[in-house]
Amino acid sequence: VPESADAVLDGLDPEQREVATALSGPVCVLAGAGTGKTRAITHRIAYGVRSGIFQPANVLAVTFTNRAAGEMRGRLRQLGAGGVQARTFHSAALRQLQYFWPRAVGGELPRLLERKAQLVSESAARCGLRLDRTELRDATSEIEWSKVTQTVPEDYAAAAAKAGREAPRDPAELARVYGVYEQLKRERGVIDFEDVLLLTVAVLQDHYDIAETVRSQYQHFVVDEYQDVSPLQQRLLELWLGERDQLCVVGDASQTIYSFTGATPDHLLNFRLRHPGATVVKLVRDYRSTPQVVHLANGVLAQARGRAAEHRLALVSQRGTGPEPEYAEYADEPAEAEGTARRIRSLIAAGVPAHEIAVLYRVNAQSEIYEQALADAGVPYQLRGAERYFERQEVRDAVLLLRGAARAAGGTDPHLAGAEGLPAQVRAVLSSRGWAPEPPAGSGAARDSWESLAALVRLAEDFVRARPAATLADLVAELDERASAQHAPTVEGVTLASLHAAKGLEWDAVFLVGLTDGMLPITYARTEEQIEEERRLLYVGVTRARRRLALSWALSRAPGGRASRRPSPFLDGLRPGTAAARRGAALAGGPGGIERGAERRRRRGTARCRVCGRTLTDAGEIKLMRCEDCPSELDEGLHERLHRWRAERASAVGQPAY
Ligand code: ATP
Ligand code: MG
Repeated sequence: VPESADAVLDGLDPEQREVATALSGPVCVLAGAGTGKTRAITHRIAYGVRSGIFQPANVLAVTFTNRAAGEMRGRLRQLGAGGVQARTFHSAALRQLQYFWPRAVGGELPRLLERKAQLVSESAARCGLRLDRTELRDATSEIEWSKVTQTVPEDYAAAAAKAGREAPRDPAELARVYGVYEQLKRERGVIDFEDVLLLTVAVLQDHYDIAETVRSQYQHFVVDEYQDVSPLQQRLLELWLGERDQLCVVGDASQTIYSFTGATPDHLLNFRLRHPGATVVKLVRDYRSTPQVVHLANGVLAQARGRAAEHRLALVSQRGTGPEPEYAEYADEPAEAEGTARRIRSLIAAGVPAHEIAVLYRVNAQSEIYEQALADAGVPYQLRGAERYFERQEVRDAVLLLRGAARAAGGTDPHLAGAEGLPAQVRAVLSSRGWAPEPPAGSGAARDSWESLAALVRLAEDFVRARPAATLADLVAELDERASAQHAPTVEGVTLASLHAAKGLEWDAVFLVGLTDGMLPITYARTEEQIEEERRLLYVGVTRARRRLALSWALSRAPGGRASRRPSPFLDGLRPGTAAARRGAALAGGPGGIERGAERRRRRGTARCRVCGRTLTDAGEIKLMRCEDCPSELDEGLHERLHRWRAERASAVGQPAY
C-alpha cells in the first residue's frame, strides 16, 4: 500500500495524473486502446479515497465485465482504497433491486430467466411461427434491442423502421412474439437480463425515497467503456446522479462494439455538450502493446469510416520492440485449430503462462473446435462469456455441499473450525467428494472439473483476504450473488473468448482465429455501419495483445472441402509486403507517428507551451507541450480545493448494504 495519497500518482503520465487529480465535477477521458484509461480512473478513485475526499462507500465504479470489476477491486485494495463498489451496470442494478424490491414491490425478486432463446422460440411457436436458428438469434436480439431502448411491443414496428433495424421477419410478427415473450415471463414469474435494468430504472423513477437513499449513498460515479453505454444504462446512470454531476467517464469511440444492442458512443462524444464545464483529457501513449502490435492497430484504425472513426486517436507505443504479428493461412478449420493449439503448447513450453494466452473468435460457436484441439494438446483452458460457470454440474454440486456445511456449522467462527479457516473448510468439503489439491494427470473432462473446483477454492481464499472474519455462510451468500450475476471466478488456463467478451482485457499472446470473409465481417453485417462495427471488433482484438499476436484463417470448413473462403477483407491492406499495407502505414503515421509529428513541429518551431504559449525547443518540453517551469494546469487550485472538500465532507457513512 502506498504511503501517501500522492504516491498513488506515481506511475502515471502527466495526462493520466490530470485525470486522477480531477476529483470534482464532470471528467471525460477520450483515448485509444491500451493508453491506461482504466488505470487512470482506478488511480483517480484511489487518490480520492487516500486524500480523504472520497469515502470508499460513496463511490460507485461501473465496468463492462465482471472480470474487469474484480480486477479493479483488487487493484484498489492494493492502492489502499478497498471497500469501493466496482460492478457492472447489471450487477450494481441487481444488487439494488434485490435490496429494494421488498420495499418497492413486496415479496422476493423473481428468478432470473436462464434460457432466453428457448423462451423466444416458445413465444414464436405460440404465434404460429417456426424460427430457424438465424431467425431465432435475430428475434432474440431484436427483443433485447427493444428493451434497452425502452420500446414496448406495440411500438416496435415503428421504432425499428425508424432505427433502420432489419427484423428477421415481418415487424408486426416480431412485435407479437415480443408481446407473448413478455407475457410468458410474467406467467412464469421470471425476469430477463434487460428486466434487471428496466425494473431498477422503474423503481428509482417511481420511488423518490428509494432514489434518494441510493443517491445519498453514492456520490461519485466512474464509468469505464462509456462508448458502449446503452440508452437504458445511461438512464440508470442519470437516475443515480440526480441533479449532481460528480461523474467521470472514459471510453474510446473506436472500440464501440455493442451498437447492435442499441449502445451508442454519442453519450461519450457529446459529453462536453451535456456537461459544458467538463475536464476533457486525451491520452495517446499506448502502454500495453509493442510497436509492432500498435502499428497493426493503427493500420486497422486508418481504414475505419464513420462517426467513431472521425474521433480516432493514433496510438504511440511506449514499449520495447517485439515480434512482428504472425499471419497463418490453413487449409481447413481443424487444421487451423490444431496449428493454433500447437503454437500455444510451444509458447507454454517456452515459459509463457497459460493464463497469459488467449484465443479470440467472432462467435461463440467457434469455440468448440478450439476446446477440442487444446484438450487434445493437453493445454488447460477456460471459456469466457458463454461459460455459465455456475451451471456446471460439479460447481452446482459443490455449492450444494457448501450450503449444507454452512448450515451445519451455523455461525461457527472459521478459526474454531481449523487453523487455516475458511479455505481449509472449503477444501475439506470438496475433498469429501474426491477433489484433491493436485490436478489430475492429462486433460479432458476430469481436468476441467478439477479446474472449476480449484477456482472455488481460490475464490474462498480471495474472499477471506478481503473479509478476514467471513464465515462459510458468508461465502455461500457471496456464491449465490455471483451466480445470479453470472460472475464466475477465474479458472486458470488459456482463455477462449469471443471478441466481445475480450473487451478491456489484455494478454501477453493473442490468437485471433477464424478471420475469414463471412466471419469478420460476419455475413449478416450488411449496412456500412454494421461493417464498420465488425472492423472495430478487429481493432479491439488486435489491441488485446501485449507482445505476441497471431492472425489466422482457414480456406475451407472441413478437411478435403472446397477452398471457398478468403481471408477477411479487413486484412487486405495490412498484411506486410502489399502496396495497400504501405499506404495504410503512411496514413496511420506508423509506429511513433505522433513523435514524428512532434519532431516536425520542433524543426519548424511551432510547438508552444499550452500554459504560457512560449515556443518550445526542448524535446522533453515538447513532449509535455509545456515549459518545465510553467505550472501544469492541473496543479492550480488543487490544494485549495482539497482543503475545501475535506472541510465540507459529510460525516463518514458506513459500508453500503446494497
Ligand atoms: P482498453 O481501451 O483496452 O480498455 P485502457 O486504456 O483501459 O485500454 P489500461 O488497461 O488501463 O488501458 O492499460 C493498459 C496497460 O498499460 C495496462 O497493463 C496498464 O497497467 C499499463 N499502463 C497504463 N498506464 C501506464 C503507465 N503510465 N505506466 C506504465 N504502464 C501503464
Ligand atoms: Mg480499459
